[in-house]
Amino acid sequence: MRCEEVHERLSALIDEQLSREEREQVEYHLHTCEACSGEYQDLRRFVEFCRQLEAPEPRIDLWREFQPMLAEIVVEHRLSFVQRLRRQWGRLVSQVCYGIILFLQVVTYQLTLTLSRYIVEPEQAAVVRPARG
Ligand SMILES: [Zn+2]
Repeated sequence: MRCEEVHERLSALIDEQLSREEREQVEYHLHTCEACSGEYQDLRRFVEFCRQLEAPEPRIDLWREFQPMLAEIVVEHRLSFVQRLRRQWGRLVSQVCYGIILFLQVVTYQLTLTLSRYIVEPEQAAVVRPARG
């Protein structure tokens, strides 16, 4: 078997997809040809590396996540109009509070940035002010 023919069969050899006869021919060539043997080692290492990278299938249990939401919706539908309104009002208030907190954080950050221009470190102030006398 020539080098070219061996190259074409290297990945099949790794995947164990060669017939017994072909495999023996390729293996015999790999024992006698240093170039092909090196190529085979590289390819095998690469394939092993790729197999390690294959992430395990994520387990998605939609029902487990969906069930509590559904239960809450069912409970909410059984409530009276006033109770529902009260719940929604509570949610609205908490969301408005989050909004106010976020707004205050942004304002505080901006204010700190603006004021930091006017704050001079004591060491720098001594250099900037002209000495008296
Ligand atoms: Zn060869």
